[in-house]
Amino acid sequence: MNLKGDDNSKVYELNDDDWSVGSDSEGENPIVTMFRQMVGNVYMLRPDGKSYLCNGLIFDNVINYRKVLLDYAIEEGFGYIRLKNEKDKIIMHCAVEGCPWRIHASPMLGGQNFQVKTYNEEYTCTKLTINSLVTAEWLSLKFKQEFKDNSNIYVAQMFAKVKLRYGVKVKNSILYRAKNKALSRLCGGHDESYSKLHKYRNILRIKNPGTMVQVMAKRNDLSKNPTFQMFFLSFPA
Ligand SMILES: [Zn+2]
Repeated sequence: MNLKGDDNSKVYELNDDDWSVGSDSEGENPIVTMFRQMVGNVYMLRPDGKSYLCNGLIFDNVINYRKVLLDYAIEEGFGYIRLKNEKDKIIMHCAVEGCPWRIHASPMLGGQNFQVKTYNEEYTCTKLTINSLVTAEWLSLKFKQEFKDNSNIYVAQMFAKVKLRYGVKVKNSILYRAKNKALSRLCGGHDESYSKLHKYRNILRIKNPGTMVQVMAKRNDLSKNPTFQMFFLSFPA
């Protein structure tokens, strides 16, 4: 489907692909077919937490579509290449030459929703044990809740969990970065925490009159943020 014209007069050019949306479930994973019969074409997380893709599937927007696509590829153990990555059309195919896995999605008429237009879920490649799609950013989001429950998870434990869940081995350097990202997201990061000290000082003075509180910082260069030196606090007797 191609969008033509300006915002006031949109003209849609339908491709053959557009007519086959949602009509072909032949060869589809039976679990996905059953789930689709229950929830329709709108994407919802499966009860087992795994991602899925199928013909006609609708996403809230392109960001969610990309997110599910990434999760799905990592869970299934393959990489993909962008054949087309434009506003009105995203086509991906498997990174292994000769493998037929391919997906094409585009925006729905006049809205933000994104829909899978054609999908070939078959793949002939072997499951990857090292997948470059697994980044520190992706892992930090996957481990977000676990770090919230326990901030002392070791990198070795992360390695074992990722291997068990996704069948991939991840370098320690990536796991360390993922851990740092997850923790700094939870704590708001050092920079953000220090920037809140002045606000905290003011609240203490207002809520506890008579409190002596001082935040000391050093600034050598006016173009840079000050460096924290000392926090002094004394509540009134
Ligand atoms: Zn493949």
